[in-house]
Amino acid sequence: MRYLLGLLACSFFVFGTLTAQTPKNTSTADIYQSIEKLNFLGTALYIAAHPDDENTRLISYLANNTKARTGYLSLTRGDGGQNLIGPELRELLGVLRTQELLAARRVDGGEQFFSRANDFGYSKHPDETLEIWNKEAILGDVVRTIRKFKPDIIINRFDHRSPGSTHGHHTSSAMLSFEAFDLANDSNAYPEQLATTNTWQPKRLFFNTSWWFYGSEEKFKEADKSKMLNMDVGTYYPMIGISNNEIASLASSQHLCQGFGRLTTRGSEDEYVELLKGDLPYDKTNIFDGIDTSWSRIDGGKAIGDILYKVQENFNFKNPTSHLPALLEAYQLLQKSTDDHWKKLKTDELTTIISAISGLHVEASTSASYTNPGEKVDVQIQALNRSDLNIKLKSIFFNNQDVAIDETALNNNESFDKKVVLEIPNTTKFTSPYWLMEKGTLGTYTVNDADLIGKPETPRAFNTTFNLEINGVAIPISKPIIYKYAKPDKGEIYQPFEVVPEATASFADKVLIFADANQKRIPITIKAHKDNISGTIELKHGAGWQVDKKSQPFSINKKGDEQTVFFILSPPTTENESSISPIIKLNGKEITKEMVTIAYDHVPTQTILLPSETKVVRLNIQKAGENIGYIMGAGDEVPTSLEQIGYNVQLIDPTTITKESLKKYDAVVLGIRAYNVIDELKFKQRFILDYVKNGGTVIVQYNTASRWGSQFENIAPFELEISRDRVTNENSEVEIIAKDNSLVNFPNKIDENDFSGWVQERGLYFPNNWSEEFTPILEMHDKGEDSLKGSLLIAKYGKGNYIYTGLSFFRELPVGVPGAYKLFSNMLSVGKEKVETKAKIKG
Ligand SMILES: [Zn+2]
Repeated sequence: MRYLLGLLACSFFVFGTLTAQTPKNTSTADIYQSIEKLNFLGTALYIAAHPDDENTRLISYLANNTKARTGYLSLTRGDGGQNLIGPELRELLGVLRTQELLAARRVDGGEQFFSRANDFGYSKHPDETLEIWNKEAILGDVVRTIRKFKPDIIINRFDHRSPGSTHGHHTSSAMLSFEAFDLANDSNAYPEQLATTNTWQPKRLFFNTSWWFYGSEEKFKEADKSKMLNMDVGTYYPMIGISNNEIASLASSQHLCQGFGRLTTRGSEDEYVELLKGDLPYDKTNIFDGIDTSWSRIDGGKAIGDILYKVQENFNFKNPTSHLPALLEAYQLLQKSTDDHWKKLKTDELTTIISAISGLHVEASTSASYTNPGEKVDVQIQALNRSDLNIKLKSIFFNNQDVAIDETALNNNESFDKKVVLEIPNTTKFTSPYWLMEKGTLGTYTVNDADLIGKPETPRAFNTTFNLEINGVAIPISKPIIYKYAKPDKGEIYQPFEVVPEATASFADKVLIFADANQKRIPITIKAHKDNISGTIELKHGAGWQVDKKSQPFSINKKGDEQTVFFILSPPTTENESSISPIIKLNGKEITKEMVTIAYDHVPTQTILLPSETKVVRLNIQKAGENIGYIMGAGDEVPTSLEQIGYNVQLIDPTTITKESLKKYDAVVLGIRAYNVIDELKFKQRFILDYVKNGGTVIVQYNTASRWGSQFENIAPFELEISRDRVTNENSEVEIIAKDNSLVNFPNKIDENDFSGWVQERGLYFPNNWSEEFTPILEMHDKGEDSLKGSLLIAKYGKGNYIYTGLSFFRELPVGVPGAYKLFSNMLSVGKEKVETKAKIKG
């Protein structure tokens, strides 16, 4: 697998927007394929909603078999999902998934685009999605991508005609694409975009259908296919020794944080697309049939095609340099074309081919991963010609800064090496994902520079342009400056070169809960990104909160080192929600950012600057009981949250559970999806239920119904059926239907206000059927749907209490939602009422 991946990284030529830092080695087979691709002037755009929605088989087929320029527009960056490989969530998960998509495209040969839409969580219906996304803005982003990418063909992953049948984001992506198909060519639509691009009419719109959308393979077999095309995407590419579906599997296996590492498939496989707009092709295996994809489609293209088709036809695999005169002639003709769109794309492709044919290696690297504005950095330049061609290095520029070298002839295999100093202007912007620079709304990122909208990542700040003369023809080659180093256990590593502030500061916790009037000691860690810095730091806070010192000095000698300072923060006397943030004062500048680094082997290291901020919440929370046992399921932060309000939480290793071991706990809580992911629980379930029977409290958080059927007769002491019922609108009205129940009275009185300020959703996988021993406590529903009573259920069993809840405490507690804390505290306190009362009487 690893070997294949390495092979692929080498085999597939990189065109256009890809910014992997590692240099590509190209064989003559690669060069030949690039010439085939150079000679195809057609474009296809695939549109869906999330990272992993894309059909890599079809994208790879179009990019590698058809040779089309192929893009994937994912409306979101997948911020709302879960992360199987690390701690990144929400916007940071979006950054990681962006890079995983780029990694997938490096394998399947596609290009990647995004809109400003935020993956805010599940929605049942596109109406809800489009309201939260700001439909006008996101539709505009789809229109913009079409106008810039100029696809002949658009393919939707989802069906725009079946709202409510899948995730609202999915249907929305298809509906927006359906609308944008025509709007892109309407100069009255989004006219502000026309200052930097022009209108464009795609020719055909398809829906990438399959049996899944028909309910079964049998039904699909019988379906009317008169408007469908099909392609065998299992086709084998003998030139590189791999089949299309193998490439597709490797591409989707890049989605590691979603657990998409998968087996490779091989062999014939049909893929269907249904025509939605435009004319039906005559050849129903070729989506471009009838569309001019030859050089003749552009101004001056005929003469270029006459040259390049011959190169393709008579390609010399043993001595590809023999084609250089023809390629240079085509290059010069192309510069005269008035078609700016294709001129730029094909010039880049031709430059890459010419450079590959001459074995050219040009590189500008630093030995430091980052610097600061105003600094000077050593850059190592290398230029190497590995052919007999006559190549001269005329000049080198860092952006617009002339490096002033002497004109040099690059003789065969004689390296030109030079160390030069790059001055970083004071005005240089810090490296960070552009869509996270400003605070966005729930559904949409704020991007002030419209030129960036649609781009997968922030363009690199520094490019080196090598102005070469090859056989007398001037050819500039541009490369980002990269950071290069060697690791003894990994070998040579290429990473992005970044610009960061001189220092950043961060808190240990993102949310601090003050359950009573006690003050807390707040650590702030200052990290130096420059040698010898010293300054002061302050803690900014809201009204009613008090801090012990106005400011504190700090001083750090070495770049990369840290210093931690402490402030004492006292909460207000009454309930309050606010935030605190550090202000670093350094050399007359104020810095309020924290720096987060995302580093994995399968993607380039990412540096993200975010506002450094911690939410502080003063609660008046009552609780009974102290010792909580927590059985971690698929992973959540609930234990840390409970510790914040003063519980003593112990994580329980399921293998250690015995008949006696749970007795010491006031309550035992099962983490999300515990029964889905911990096989051991099937042996320990009887001890858990015995614990309840003997007077304990067990709280089970949400599980999905899909997996436990084979393992457990029932996870509860009484009949309880889990369904797919969920309430996705976090603001939906909640009615307390068991007003006298202890869960909404002791020790905290719960009312409707405790359900305000919730995030992402109310809850999921609610039971829809339960035996009479259970008491439902709450009733809630999404707009236009039936009321659900299964979100919070309690049953007396023996001397104890069994609670099942699909409410999303795992989302609400970590972000500090006061009502969620009170309700959870009540769940933990169930059954303690009498004890407390007795104690009071005694006292
Ligand atoms: Zn999806």
